[in-house]
Amino acid sequence: MTRLVILGKQGAGKGTQCALLVKHYGIPHVSTGDMLRAAVAEGTELGLQAKEVMEAGELVSDDLILGIVRERLAQPDAQLGFLLDGFPRTDVQARELTALLAPNAIDVAIDIEVPDNVVTERMSARGRADDTPEAIERRLEIYQTETAPLLEFFSSQGILVSVDGLGTEDEVQDRIVAATERIR
Ligand code: AMP
Repeated sequence: MTRLVILGKQGAGKGTQCALLVKHYGIPHVSTGDMLRAAVAEGTELGLQAKEVMEAGELVSDDLILGIVRERLAQPDAQLGFLLDGFPRTDVQARELTALLAPNAIDVAIDIEVPDNVVTERMSARGRADDTPEAIERRLEIYQTETAPLLEFFSSQGILVSVDGLGTEDEVQDRIVAATERIR
């Protein structure tokens, strides 16, 4: 049973590292961003509500996000563990996650550290529809105000590992796995 949370600014390399981690641990990748993009593509009610918010680089409401996470974590494949990517992003989400699972259910929260100038460059280069310069800047601001405080939330539970996100994908992956195994 491995239950991981991955934190880090957009552009820190979470997507790449998640793909490697889910293989390594054999757990499902639960990405709220991927689920929202799928909903937008399918034109569901959720997608319609989330689309503009996402394009502006703002956060989708906690209620909507908690709804999709609750539903996803109730699926059979998530009973033996999961990798949460892009969630929690706010204090409310972090507290609700703790309420949803048994206390101490998250084994490790991984923070991939990359400086602002590097993530800005990477996001500008990936050319996703929601990666306008304004949205990129807004997301970094929101990361600082809403999400960075969660580092303290996980750190106070003794489950935070901070990993240097610069270097090759394999180097970063080795650091993450080594740090995760030390805590688990
Ligand atoms: P991501 O792929 O994780 O970068 O997410 C893309 C966009 O989806 C974000 O910029 C937000 O607008 C929205 N989003 C994803 N996850 C969350 C979340 N946990 N809380 C609020 N909004 C989210």
